Amino acid sequence: MLDFNYKQLDTSTNFLTVGAGALWADIIPYLDKYNRSVYVMQTNNSFTVGGSVSANCHGWQPNTQPIASTVESFRLINANGELLTCSRYENQQLFSLVLGGYGLFGIILDLKLKTVPNELYKCKQYIINSSDYVNEFLRVTTDKNVRMAYGRININPQNFMNESIISTFVIDTNIKKEDISKTSFTKLRRTVFRSSVNSNYGKNLRWRAEKITARLISKKVFSRNQLLNESVEVFQNTDPRYTDILHEYFIPKDSVNQFIELLKTVIPKYDVDLLNITVRNVMKDESTFLKYANTDVFGFVMLFSQQRTAAAEKEMERLTKTLINEAVSLKGTYYLPYRLHASKEQFNIAYPQAAAFFSLKLKYDPQEIFQNSFYLKYK
Ligand SMILES: Cc1cc2nc3c(=O)[nH]c(=O)nc-3n(C[C@H](O)[C@H](O)[C@H](O)COP(=O)(O)OP(=O)(O)OC[C@H]3O[C@@H](n4cnc5c(N)ncnc54)[C@H](O)[C@@H]3O)c2cc1C
Repeated sequence: MLDFNYKQLDTSTNFLTVGAGALWADIIPYLDKYNRSVYVMQTNNSFTVGGSVSANCHGWQPNTQPIASTVESFRLINANGELLTCSRYENQQLFSLVLGGYGLFGIILDLKLKTVPNELYKCKQYIINSSDYVNEFLRVTTDKNVRMAYGRININPQNFMNESIISTFVIDTNIKKEDISKTSFTKLRRTVFRSSVNSNYGKNLRWRAEKITARLISKKVFSRNQLLNESVEVFQNTDPRYTDILHEYFIPKDSVNQFIELLKTVIPKYDVDLLNITVRNVMKDESTFLKYANTDVFGFVMLFSQQRTAAAEKEMERLTKTLINEAVSLKGTYYLPYRLHASKEQFNIAYPQAAAFFSLKLKYDPQEIFQNSFYLKYK
């Protein structure tokens, strides 16, 4: 779909019409020319819009629903080869099935997305005890001027998960364009980040460096587009013997402390190399059928480095199954774009809409033209 990358901003409505194959890395510079920005997207710019809405991604935009909430409409080629417009008013059921539907209902050709102003933000950071995470996150983000926020939990084994840093980006109308930070932290972040692979010394060093960086970037000025336009290069593994594995669990806000306590005891029991935990909140999803945010939740994103061996794969599968059980026991869910380690039973418990989702799939695509490994495993 990468060639379907046309972009057209309607400056009277501020809706962006965009081909489904366009990357955020192209869209952000395009919107920047109009001083507009993306409403909801992932932490990094390396993905297509079509892939992003098909997973129904979310990011650092606090107190917002996932990306589906920012989709006004899209055009879909269905299993009969017909071109349909889907929105909250037209083909509503398909609209809710396609968003977060992993390509199983047709091919999205292009979309109409809401945009927001490209504002200037000052960064503010808070170093807190992890047990205060939810209260602090909700306290600092009640300020309507806080437009982006995320937190990191310390994964240094000596002080595992006891401390966190919350970063917020706050509108300040006194800021002038000349104040925008010229510093790129990407290179520094990558060097410090990758040195922590397989090394407790590196993990300790990284947490200390993150705290120092927190002080350095505090009060610096960033534009929204500058923050969103970062590639995955910061984390990316380049050693062919290893791969990076992501997990994400969505936990209702009242159970976040319990989940942090569970992670503290569960993760050290497995032979895995945890590099990073990022936590941000996602509001109840009102748009999609197969939802991961059935209520207001906090998403725990975990990044692991994994050896490319059968034994390491098995160990990661064991850990994933355990963490899914723990998340589900707290009425949480797990994110679907990653490895297919969940059992069928776990998928059905975490996603009670699954049976209806697959029967609607057969209604709209009786010959099962659109398939993928996820469908073949869980249907
Ligand atoms: C390093 C990394 C960081 C990430 N960070 C985040 C994050 O911060 N927040 C978050 O929510 N997610 C995150 N993700 C997950 C990411 O959002 C999803 O994997 C997303 O689907 C990736 O988009 P893509 O363009 O690579 O999609 P692809 O992998 O190409 O496709 C994903 C799915 O969408 C379907 N699809 C793609 N295009 C279309 C189309 N035009 N029509 C119909 N179906 C289509 C595909 O068939 C497939 O099922 C991250 C992933 C990685 C690897």
